[in-house]
Amino acid sequence: MKTDISTRCIHLKQTNKHAKHFGAISYPIYQTATYAHPGVGQTTGYDYSRLQNPTREQLEKIVASLEDGVDALAFSSGMAAIATLMEIFEPGDHLIIDSDLYGGSIRLFDNISRKNGITFSAVDCCQENIVSYIKDETKAIYIETPTNPMMNITDIEALSKIAKQHALLLVVDNTFLSPYFQNPLNLGADIVIHSGTKYLGGHNDTLAGFLITSSHKMSEKLRFFIKTTGAGLSPFDSWLIMRGIKTLAIRMEKAQENTLKIVDWLLLQKSVSKVIYPGIATHPGHQVMKKQSRGFGAIITFLVNDKTFAQEVLENIKIIQFAESLGGVETLMTYPITQTHADLSPKLLEKNGITEKVLRLSVGIEAADDLIADLQAAFIKAEEKLYERKKY
Ligand SMILES: *Cc1c(COP(=O)(O)O)cnc(C)c1O
Repeated sequence: MKTDISTRCIHLKQTNKHAKHFGAISYPIYQTATYAHPGVGQTTGYDYSRLQNPTREQLEKIVASLEDGVDALAFSSGMAAIATLMEIFEPGDHLIIDSDLYGGSIRLFDNISRKNGITFSAVDCCQENIVSYIKDETKAIYIETPTNPMMNITDIEALSKIAKQHALLLVVDNTFLSPYFQNPLNLGADIVIHSGTKYLGGHNDTLAGFLITSSHKMSEKLRFFIKTTGAGLSPFDSWLIMRGIKTLAIRMEKAQENTLKIVDWLLLQKSVSKVIYPGIATHPGHQVMKKQSRGFGAIITFLVNDKTFAQEVLENIKIIQFAESLGGVETLMTYPITQTHADLSPKLLEKNGITEKVLRLSVGIEAADDLIADLQAAFIKAEEKLYERKKY
C-alpha cells in the first residue's frame, strides 16, 4: 500500500530495518570519507563518499519517494544540481527555457552553459507557442511553475505532451511548491529539480539541491557526473535536510494558511497595486494549478505604487526579515531587482515585469496576525515617508 505523502516525509519503507543501525529512529550520520573493503574485489556497497554515502543515500531515497521518482541525487546546493544536470548536454544542443526563471539559473545558462556551446531560447512558456521554437538541435524544455518571481503557471501535462512528440526532455524546477504540493514526474516531466535549501530543508540553515529522475538510464548518467565532478551533499547536511523533511507537510500547510490571510490583507491595501498569487481565483493560472497541484504554495509577489514605498517597507519590517531565499519557517521579504534577479539584463527584467516596485514574500509559519501587524506597521512608516517627501 502506498502511504500518504505526509507519512512518507517521516517513514521510508524499508526492508529489514530493525537489523540495521540498532533500531535508531533518527538515521545515523555516516561521517566518513571512505570505507574499508572486506577483501580484494569485495565491497560493503560503499567505496568512497564522493560516489555514495549511506546518509546521503537514505535522504535520496526519501526525496525520490516524495516525487514518485525512480531515483534522486542529492547535491551541495540547488545550483550544483542544475550545473550537474547541464553536463548531460553537448556543444550545439539547444534548450527552450522559460523566460521567468530563478536568477541563478539564468546566470548559469548565460555565463557557463553558453560558453560550453549550449544555446537557449527564453520563452514565456505559459503564453507563447513553444512548438515554434523547436529546432533540430533542441534537446529539452526547462521550466518552473509557478515561476520566480512573477508566479506564471505552465500546464505541465500539456507541455509534456509536446515534449514527448518531439523527443525532448521536460525538466521542471519544482522548488516553489515542494513535492508536498506538486509532483511533475506524475504529470509527464522527465527530471525534477529542487533547491533543497528551500522547503525541503525548511529552516534557512542548510544548502542542498536535488535531481529526481523518472528513468534508470538518466539516473545512471547523472550518477556518473556526480561521481566525477563531486558536488554530492555532505553526510551532515544530508541529515539536516532529512530532519527538515520530517515536518514538510505541516510546514507547507501552515505557511499556505498564513499566505491566504496575508493575501486577503494585501488586497485591501491602497498602496498595493497588484497581488500575484495563483490561489486568487482571477489569477490566469488558477484553474491549471487546481488541476495539477494540491496547493497554491506560500510565495506572494506584490507590486506597490512607488519605489520609495517598496524600499521603506523593506527597511521597516521587523519580524519579517529582508533576505534572499524562500521556503523556510521564517517569513522573508525579497527585493528581486537587487537580489535574486540582479544579474538579469534590463531587457529581460522589463519583459518579465520585474521593477523597483516588485516585492516577494516567502511566508513562514509564525502567527499570521503577527506577520500582518508587522506589515501594517511597515506600511504606515512607508506611507509617512512618502507623505513627507511630497510635503517638501
Ligand atoms: C534557490 C533556488 C535555486 C538555487 O538553489 P540553491 O540551493 O540556492 O543553490 C534554484 N531554483 C529555484 C527556483 C530556487 O528558488
